[in-house]
Amino acid sequence: MAKILVTGGAGYIGSHTRYALEKRGHSVVVADNLSRGYKDAVPAGMLRVIDISETEKMERLLREEAVEAVIHFAAYIAVGESTEKPELYFSNNVSGSLALFEAMLAAGVKRVVFSSSAASYGIPKKVPIPEDEPAAPINPYGESKVMVEVMMRWLDKYRGLRGIPLRYFNACGAEPAAGLGERHDPETHLIPLMLRAVQTGKPMTIFGDDYPTPDGTCIRDYIHVSDLADAHVLCVEHLLNGGASDAFNVGTGDGHSVREVLDAVERVTGKPVPHTMGPRREGDPPSLVADSQKLRRALGWTPQRADLDRIVSDAWAFAQGHR
Ligand code: UDP
Repeated sequence: MAKILVTGGAGYIGSHTRYALEKRGHSVVVADNLSRGYKDAVPAGMLRVIDISETEKMERLLREEAVEAVIHFAAYIAVGESTEKPELYFSNNVSGSLALFEAMLAAGVKRVVFSSSAASYGIPKKVPIPEDEPAAPINPYGESKVMVEVMMRWLDKYRGLRGIPLRYFNACGAEPAAGLGERHDPETHLIPLMLRAVQTGKPMTIFGDDYPTPDGTCIRDYIHVSDLADAHVLCVEHLLNGGASDAFNVGTGDGHSVREVLDAVERVTGKPVPHTMGPRREGDPPSLVADSQKLRRALGWTPQRADLDRIVSDAWAFAQGHR
């Protein structure tokens, strides 16, 4: 069992991955600057409040804690914000990642799993999307992920930094028994917004019903955050066992429309979702579904919680505990 540093471990996917690593028996230290994460998502004593851009501090931490591998989540994730302030995304997500990689190289830590995104594909030509679909992001957030993947490929080749970027599709769900779930501020994601509409009675907006899809609403690949966390555990173990660098999609391979999600939320909560129909949101492709065969074949990963009602009921259990 290994000592693993999780950057951004106070955030949504980071906190679930920290939990999954501990369940597997790994020892974890979390580095988070708490700018967008939650202190209470990290067990007492495990959190180091440090920014990934603080290379020297990070190098010291890696050495002192005898870290063997890093899972790197710390980043900004709001697409809209990235179009308002692209520089923020290049500074925090790209320069921050480079500073972290420099600290890792200085400390001799040469294994990293990185939170990349399906946003790197932009509007894909092929759906389900295979990993060799060219990178063609349509916003600075997606570009920031591509830029880090590019750095990782060169650092792998010339510095022996073995790395796996995981390209997430739509992370959702929760681990309510562990008190973990989705808490973005402001929240922009579909399932928490629908649950909030159920709780408050204030309508949410569906962004467009005139897409070229069977019911006119967008199709996405909703992946339970705990299945996503399991993928990180498998990948970091693969690297620790001497495995090679590679890039993988993490999605279920099944798409659900916004209307199907709405139906699932109504089934699970037993209440109507107050909503209005709005125009399309800029930059939303009609359909994004992962070809997830590569990760299944290479590392034997299979999503255990792919059922939409299961995802929604976990998110609902968490949302009820947090109001
Ligand atoms: N969506 C919506 N209303 C909202 C938020 C999202 O209709 O208030 C739709 C959005 O257009 C997309 C899907 O829900 O088709 C998932 O959006 P989300 O922001 O959760 O994730 P994304 O696909 O942008 O990563």
